[in-house]
Amino acid sequence: MSDQAAVSLEGIHKFFGNFHALRGIDLTIAKGEVCVAIGPSGSGKSTLLRCINQIEVVSAGRVRICGTLQGYDERNGRLHELSPRAIDRQRRLTGMVFQRFNLFPHMTALGNVIEGPVQVKRIPKATARSHGRDLLARVGLADLADRYPNQLSGGQQQRVAIARALAMEPEVMLFDEPTSALDPELVGEVLDVIKDLAASGMTMILVTHEIGFAREVGDHLVFMDQGTIVEEGRPKQMLEAPKSTRTQAFLSKVL
Ligand code: ADP
Ligand code: MG
Repeated sequence: MSDQAAVSLEGIHKFFGNFHALRGIDLTIAKGEVCVAIGPSGSGKSTLLRCINQIEVVSAGRVRICGTLQGYDERNGRLHELSPRAIDRQRRLTGMVFQRFNLFPHMTALGNVIEGPVQVKRIPKATARSHGRDLLARVGLADLADRYPNQLSGGQQQRVAIARALAMEPEVMLFDEPTSALDPELVGEVLDVIKDLAASGMTMILVTHEIGFAREVGDHLVFMDQGTIVEEGRPKQMLEAPKSTRTQAFLSKVL
């Protein structure tokens, strides 16, 4: 189905013990859409990405990626929990980039990029290396493929992390504050890579405090507070004329 949503969330709840971290999230993201999520610390942004990526299991609700119901198989109108292997397979529909780059320290940039394709997807090493070099070139690191993470700047490490996620050929990329751990002068190079990716038609959800970037690159802005989506819409419209007083209060602090 060509008009199928890339990501569809219906009634997502997440509890950590008694703590109700996500309180009924409904969200639809079209293919090729760049969705930016903003909101105060503790509002559930990371938890939402982790539920989409199935690092966390939702307490209630349904997550679909390109029509595939995550974590479950739906037969005869009933839900059947999937095996860990099937969940791993599904998890590859999404690629995640974290605030901390989490590269394997004992592997070169190229080694990091090809690890998933070779170990998980069983792609021949020569093919993976050639594709991996292309991806490193795409993030502006063609010349640094043989460097180890401790020989790279934070911005370069984060770009390797993006190439590594892309190497698994995900349908949707999830970015959780990808520039928050970077020195200010390194933020731009990472945002430029994300911008190129957006222009190439990649579907993505980006959690960020870079409001200017959200306005420039985002198609869809989501404001979260206390485990709910308080307001969503076109970034320009929402930033200029937020409807909710909670959105207004948040924006007045960060703009
Ligand atoms: P954000 O990314 O918007 O800052 P999070 O999704 O990280 O927010 O967290 C939302 C809330 O859920 C916070 O109150 C946080 O303390 C809580 N939380 C997140 N992960 C866990 C966990 N594994 N166990 C218990 N509480 C958690
Ligand atoms: Mg977070």
